[in-house]
Order: sequence, then structure tokens, then C-alpha cells
Amino acid sequence: MDITGKKIAILGCGRSGLGAAHLAIARGAGEVCIFDANPAATCADADISFVPGATEEHARAYAADIVVLSPGIEADIPWTLAFTAHGAPLIGETELGWHYYKGRIIAITGTNGKTTTTALLEHVLQSAGKTAKACGNYGYPLCEVALMEPQPEFAVLEVSSFQMETIADFRPEVAIWLNFAPDHMDRYTRVEDYFNAKMRIFENMSADQIAIVREGEELPGLIPQRIGFSSVVNTGKLYFEDEAIMENGAVLTPLQGTPLVQAHNAENAMATTLACRTVGLDDAVISAGIRSFCPPGHRCEPVAEKDGILWLNDSKSTNLHSTEAAVRSQTRPIILLAGGKDKGLDYTAINPMLKEKARLCVVFGQIAEQLVDTFSPVCRTIRVETVEEAVQAAHREAYAGDVVLFSPGTSSFDQFTGYVQRGNCFRDAVKRILNI
Ligand code: ADP
Repeated sequence: MDITGKKIAILGCGRSGLGAAHLAIARGAGEVCIFDANPAATCADADISFVPGATEEHARAYAADIVVLSPGIEADIPWTLAFTAHGAPLIGETELGWHYYKGRIIAITGTNGKTTTTALLEHVLQSAGKTAKACGNYGYPLCEVALMEPQPEFAVLEVSSFQMETIADFRPEVAIWLNFAPDHMDRYTRVEDYFNAKMRIFENMSADQIAIVREGEELPGLIPQRIGFSSVVNTGKLYFEDEAIMENGAVLTPLQGTPLVQAHNAENAMATTLACRTVGLDDAVISAGIRSFCPPGHRCEPVAEKDGILWLNDSKSTNLHSTEAAVRSQTRPIILLAGGKDKGLDYTAINPMLKEKARLCVVFGQIAEQLVDTFSPVCRTIRVETVEEAVQAAHREAYAGDVVLFSPGTSSFDQFTGYVQRGNCFRDAVKRILNI
């Protein structure tokens, strides 16, 4: 793809849009303009042409040669389509960055665990002495990485389904598929659409390339060579036993005492191990890197342990699958705090696990009533309004030996600006009530 002298419309003035604009300008585009439908939107770089409150009339009048879409904007809405009405190709920021980044790309997708794995891979590669940047959905936009001088040897690229909707030639060297479960049903009308968008990560890969895929995931028509891992079954190349990553009956990386010891994080570490091997790192270096990693917060993060009760902040759990993984990973009796915005998800799938492992559920937020109906046949369930009240209820009910697991299972936008604010609210409430 050659953008020299071309007229580029960039849709969305967030970080991806800005990264795409900077790259397009630096690589010789003739004209670059960012458009945003929000009249109150602002552009962080005053030197770039910017149209807030852009309408379909603006779109048609601009008549771009290439249209670059940010992942937060849907590709098939009339507003976006107006920019391509005269036949201009529509690509995503990832596709543009891919054309100009000349290093090695390890791409990571999955419903859950992408950010943890992306950060872990970056850490292991860096601790092996490589230059590596976490990017995509986490960290820098790929376009910004493409602009770095020198470019890092590795781009560790977290990709969401939204980013994969708008690729054309994008082709990573190695791709990781962590897991799949229904999510984002507020953006997709059918689960298959979400799945098919994610599957595009493999679309341009060849049979001599490697796909690192969790055991049990059904990926029809997968072309690259599949290598498996799992914390649940031991049929893959790597598996999990006695708090260690195992291979052929031998311990590869002990996780005991590290923040990745929980089963779902062990899967992130296994996928990382396989990717690092594929790009030529030694096992000893990989193990040491994994064991020295500190995961980003709000992901089963220990907040306090007092009077024998462990309090975990898993505010980043924004779908049922991550709550299920967090519940599965616990070895103590659980008091589960869950709730938040109604995203149209059905929570009954978690019931068998709650029946087995939870002593109590405390539910809050917009979906509290739905959760009472769903959970109470299998587990005692209390309804409260707020996260603070949920913490108070858990404090009253918890015994020594329990874990209080704040793993909401949906997004936070009914009561908070995002998972970080929600997690901070939980953490503060715990510290207040425990006087620590
Ligand atoms: P993502 O970037 O895909 O949202 P994160 O690493 O931010 O993933 O984690 C999101 C949520 O998923 C957190 O609640 C975390 O505890 C949980 N999680 C992390 N890794 C996994 C995994 N491999 N399988 C299931 N859940 C996971």
C-alpha cells in the first residue's frame, strides 16, 4: 500500500486516530484530516486538520483516497460508509501500521487475558535483552510503533475483534488465541460475527507459521500450525499441575509464589512461553522472565489479607467468562461480588461452578435483579445497591479461610467511568472497612 500524495481521512480522534495521522503525515500522505462525529471532541495535536461534529455531508465532500478507521467506531454504520461512498478503501489503524512496521509481530487475541499476556510477553522479551513494545489495544497504537526510530525488534500486539474487522493484508509472525466466549453483544448482533472477526487474526498466515491456541478451542479452517496449551486438560504441549507449567511430565516453570499462580494466568504464561520459544528464546530465560513479572492491576489483584480472609480485586472482569475463570482459579470458599451494567449476557452458565465453589454471592448495579434470579437457585444471594455496600455485606459474612472475590462479570458504566474507577472504589472500601 502506498499512501504517498494520497488524501487520507482518519475516523476518530482518540489515540489510534492520532497515531494513524502522525504516521500518514510522516510517510508522505498528500493531505490528512481527522473526523469525529462528536461535536465536543477535541484533537490532542493542533497541527492536524480536524473536523469535530463531522456529518455524512462532510464525509462525501472530502472524497478521501483512503479511509482509516479507529477501533471504537463501527465499520458498517451510515456515517462510516459515507466516507467510502465513492469507492475509497476502508482500513483500520492496525492495517496501516502493519504496512510500515518492519519488525516481528506477535499478535494476541482472545476474549480474556489479552492485556496480561501482552504485558507479560513484552516483559519476557525485554528481560531477554530484546527491544519490544506492547501495542495495539494496549500500550501504543501500532502506527506509533512504526514511527519509532529505530523500530523495536518486536511489536507485541494486542488485537481486539474490532481491530481485526478492518484488516486486509495484516499478517503476524506468530498469533496467540487465548480463549473465546460470547462478549460485546452490545456491538455484535450474532456471536458468530464476534468469532469471525477474531478469526481474521489468522487470515493471511501460512501453513509454516505458528498459531498458539488453547486446547479445546474449535477454530475451523485454521491454516497455520497449531500448538496447544491448557490449565484444564493435559493434552496440549504445555499444561498445569501442582502450580507449575509442565511439559512431558517435567516442570518447566514453577509459578508457586508468583502473581501468575492462578490457573487462568498460568494459561497466559503458557501461551507466552510457546510464543517466546517460537521466536528463539531459551527456556531458562523465558522462565526467569515469567517469574519476575508483575501483572497490571485490577486482574485478580490481592488487595488485602486480614483475619484469614483474602480480598481480590478483579474489576477488569467485564464478562461472564472472566468471572468464571476467576471462580475456577480459587482454592478457598468464595464470596463472589458481581454486577454492573446490563450488556445482554446470560449468566446461567456459571451456576454449576458457583454451586461447587461459592458460599455466597453479593450482587449490585443494574443487573442485580437478573443475577438474584440466576444465582439464587444454586447459591445464597444478597442484593445491594453499591460496591461499598457489597464490601460491607462480604465483611459481615466472611469467615477465616474465605476469599472475597470482586469479579463483576460485566462492564461498570452504570455506576462508574470504567473498570479502574470501579476497582479503586472496591480497594478503598476494603481498606476502610479493614482499617488498613
Ligand atoms: P483482556 O485484555 O482480554 O480484557 P485482561 O488481561 O485485561 O484481558 O483480563 C481481563 C479479565 O480476564 C480479568 O478479570 C482477568 O482476571 C481475566 N483473565 C486474565 N487472563 C485470563 C484467561 N487466560 N482466561 C480467562 N480469564 C482471564
